Amino acid sequence: MDDRIELFRGDITVLNVDAIVNAANNSLLGGGGVDGAIHRAAGKELLEECRLLNGCATGDAKITKGYNLPAKYVIHTVGPVWSGREEDAQLLKSCYIRSLEIASENGIKTIAFPNISTGVYRYPKDEAAEIAINTVNDFLKNHSIPGKIIFVVFDDENYRIYKNLLNG
Ligand code: ADP
Repeated sequence: MDDRIELFRGDITVLNVDAIVNAANNSLLGGGGVDGAIHRAAGKELLEECRLLNGCATGDAKITKGYNLPAKYVIHTVGPVWSGREEDAQLLKSCYIRSLEIASENGIKTIAFPNISTGVYRYPKDEAAEIAINTVNDFLKNHSIPGKIIFVVFDDENYRIYKNLLNG
């Protein structure tokens, strides 16, 4: 496992990093879960910037400023609603890759990811964690930035799963 990968248990909105990733929906106009928490903490200017982006396709990502957040940027990505079909895994993987590509393009050195799709979108948490960790670890093999990637776990089940996979 790349030693630039870290685990943090808690609320992603408190992190003082260059960018936090938002598990958004296709409209990019806010929602519940981590998306709601990010918009509440960032303030209404975030929604104003998001309105200009014309939404985002599933598996893709778009960047905005972080406004009142300690993080300088928010990278909004849209995970798949879990369907049990094969394309779910490809779309979830693409969320991590596109977010990391956008981070690299913007010189972002520290980035924090929530557990995309594992809330309202119902992706099985163990499978989602494996995809998240493997995708980030593979990306880091041929990229020198970001210099730090934090997986943020909010619920007990994800905490247990990530701890096992990262320490194993
Ligand atoms: P999705 O629609 O992609 O499933 P959710 O926001 O419903 O997005 O859930 C994604 C993950 O974010 C879940 O694992 C949930 O526990 C977690 N989560 C919810 N609030 C926060 C928060 N404030 N900080 C970090 N993670 C959060």
